[in-house]
Amino acid sequence: MSFDYDLFVIGAGSGGVRAARLAAQLGKKVAIAEEFRIGGTCVIRGCVPKKLFVYASQFSEAFEDAAGFGWNVPEPEFDWPTLVRNKDREIERLSQIYLRNLDAAGVEVIRSRAVLAAPNTVQLVGEGREVSARVILIATGARPNRHHDLPGHELAITSDEAFHLERLPKSIIIGGAGYISVEFAGIFSGLGVETTILYRGAEILSGFDDDLRKALRAEYERKGIKVICGDWLTRLERQGKDVVATTLKGDTLRAEQVMLAIGRIPNTEGLGLEDLGVELGKRGEIPVDAHSRTKVPSIYAIGDVTDRMALTPIAIREAVAFVETVFKGNPTAVDYENVPTAVFSQPEIGTVGLTEAAACKRFGDVDVYETSFRPMKHTLSGREERMMMKLIVEPRSDRVVGCHILGPDAGELAQVLGIAIKMGATKADFDATVAVHPTAAEELVTMRVKRGKPAAAAQ
Ligand code: NDP
Repeated sequence: MSFDYDLFVIGAGSGGVRAARLAAQLGKKVAIAEEFRIGGTCVIRGCVPKKLFVYASQFSEAFEDAAGFGWNVPEPEFDWPTLVRNKDREIERLSQIYLRNLDAAGVEVIRSRAVLAAPNTVQLVGEGREVSARVILIATGARPNRHHDLPGHELAITSDEAFHLERLPKSIIIGGAGYISVEFAGIFSGLGVETTILYRGAEILSGFDDDLRKALRAEYERKGIKVICGDWLTRLERQGKDVVATTLKGDTLRAEQVMLAIGRIPNTEGLGLEDLGVELGKRGEIPVDAHSRTKVPSIYAIGDVTDRMALTPIAIREAVAFVETVFKGNPTAVDYENVPTAVFSQPEIGTVGLTEAAACKRFGDVDVYETSFRPMKHTLSGREERMMMKLIVEPRSDRVVGCHILGPDAGELAQVLGIAIKMGATKADFDATVAVHPTAAEELVTMRVKRGKPAAAAQ
């Protein structure tokens, strides 16, 4: 059978673009359809603009800290429209680079919504025509959950709108306490917005190491971020310039803006998958096997739309594995173990491997090495911020199975530690590594005392 394309990709985000380029570079005839902007969540309304906002928000503390080092900083002023404009310019530049890279690889870019019409047929909705492909790859990503069952939900923004607010609000309530909530709480608070996190659970950042969760909350409260746990929204109402939130416990909270960050929903609506016999998962995700293949042999899916691990580098890994499997005859599955990750909270979190709780569950008993200290910079800045590091060691093999850091550059540290942990480094390997002095990271190779064990016994 002959097809118009060897590969048709739906969605030009991190995963889709990588798969399209790699396949085209192998000489395959490839098209990619995108109904919005080229770049996807990460570039357009996720990782990249978020990190730029994090940088912007860090200046307020940097100006304060400068005084201890002898600088006299006049009262700084912040201009939100300048930040948004500069961020937009950078995002447009990156989007253009993605486009140029697709062009250079010979990928045909189609600016249209695309849906499935048959196992090898895609309908280009904007163009009113159909094309055929030997393989179809769905990489349509996910969108914020707008909490449609919350009365007044339409008064709340999500991270999508946070990147384009016309005006910086004076106050904000952020619902949820996952990655996006704590990152935006740090951003808004740093930019001078009175910030509240409202969360249904007992402690922010579920799934992360418990000590880190507590420590971040303490740092946020020290910065003046109000953290309310064990309560949730029941209603939002507009009152003048404010939104008034009623909670389960019967409290009312008032702020100029409410933002919901309660997870993301895979973009599968109207794609036509069910008609082809692909039953979607509970959250609307596309079920796939280890090689990203759906129940329909010619249709694959990668990235957030599969709801496996919603991280850009994972979508890219899945794209590479897909191309290896389908176009290079080398069946490849992504390894989801020991994926390093960062949360760009302030202070930052960097983590790789198991939390203490997960390690205890898996191994029964673990050794924990931990330290908490004031980073050297703050001896002169006077800031009461602490850095925390924690190593989880499986005692029989001596392997370091988890590492959790809260503090400056924790994400950078997690990347490098990820190599050691992925290689199976033992605590003895950490101990045998000479410290780099004076750094914060040297603590990672100088922790000798196990938690709960007297120093002499632990040597
Ligand atoms: P998360 O899954 O990280 O957090 C969602 C939060 O909302 C949790 O606190 C969750 O509570 C709460 N929640 C979920 N559903 C409800 C509900 N119905 N009512 C009330 N509260 C609810 O999602 P995010 O939106 O923060 O981020 C989405 C994903 O994007 C992340 O999981 C991550 O994979 C990715 N991401 C990664 C980043 C990075 O790498 N730095 C940055 C930003 C996003 P509970 O814990 O009780 O379920």
